[in-house]
Amino acid sequence: MGIFYRRLPRFDYVVPKTLDEVLKALNKHKGAYRLLAGGTDLIPQLKKREIKEPEYVIDLKGISGLDTISYDGNGLKIGPLATITSIAQSPAVQEHYPILAQAALSMASPQVRNRGTFAGNICNAVPSADSIPSLITLSASVKIRSARKERIVPLEQFFIGPRITALKANEMVVEITVPQQRETSRGVYLKLSPRHSMDLAIVGVAVTGTCENGICKDIRIALGAVAPTPVRAPTAEAVLQGRQITSALVDEAARNAVTQCSPIDDHRASREYRCDMIYVLTRRALNQILLS
Ligand SMILES: Cc1cc2nc3c(=O)[nH]c(=O)nc-3n(C[C@H](O)[C@H](O)[C@H](O)COP(=O)(O)OP(=O)(O)OC[C@H]3O[C@@H](n4cnc5c(N)ncnc54)[C@H](O)[C@@H]3O)c2cc1C
Repeated sequence: MGIFYRRLPRFDYVVPKTLDEVLKALNKHKGAYRLLAGGTDLIPQLKKREIKEPEYVIDLKGISGLDTISYDGNGLKIGPLATITSIAQSPAVQEHYPILAQAALSMASPQVRNRGTFAGNICNAVPSADSIPSLITLSASVKIRSARKERIVPLEQFFIGPRITALKANEMVVEITVPQQRETSRGVYLKLSPRHSMDLAIVGVAVTGTCENGICKDIRIALGAVAPTPVRAPTAEAVLQGRQITSALVDEAARNAVTQCSPIDDHRASREYRCDMIYVLTRRALNQILLS
């Protein structure tokens, strides 16, 4: 059966020219609005009546300067309108954070990547969102603003449940910040989906780590689509941290990663299959980062 797209519901379309105007509007219409970045999640959700109908849709695209990607000695800053394509093609991302370019290219189609943003992917907060596991392994944070306050929240603490974030009714994400990594740090994102891109992850595994002289100096593992929110796998990391890396240890860590998840059974994959694939992809990712 085909998908039946209804018309958009009625709402007031607001097009602010500055960030201050957006923040004032958020304060005024607390909770009665939705922000529009690329719209690749929001518009289908509104058409399908999957989310509560907002009174206002506030389009961010009229504001200049929100699409920047900048890099200096402290790390990477991604603006809320930086598209998935611009992230994949950024020389700074390709050189210093190739795992992000890899995650970006695993998402959707070129058309969707040209409109969609990492900020939208994060704020939509579905467990299968492809940008999130890699950003978590890079210890990324989000800068959040309201008209009166600014706060920084580590991405790991940003997700409360499926489609629920730590954002308050008058707040928005104004920046994604990724700290500088060790020179020797390497990362990989592996996504399992029935079709190459244009499909949500059944399982997503991101690993960032450093191995020097066979010793694991630093390792972070994050898993997508296998729990109500993307999750980090700290006990699997502990198996490897500071140890001489062997295939047996990698295998033990990958088995441990399975215990950190609570996948669902749905039409896309059974719980059992997802658990098996967490093991397979985590082992594969760890082999690439620590043993090759
Ligand atoms: C055909 C298709 C294929 C797709 N494939 C994938 C895929 O492979 N992997 C994947 O992860 N996703 C996929 N998606 C989902 C979507 O494209 C991504 O999640 C995208 O990154 C969303 O970004 P956006 O800018 O379009 O967000 P929008 O739709 O504009 O916004 C999404 C949500 O975030 C909120 N929001 C946006 N910006 C902010 C902000 N700065 N502060 C606070 N809230 C904000 C919006 O109000 C909305 O609730 C696909 C979508 C389509 C239509």
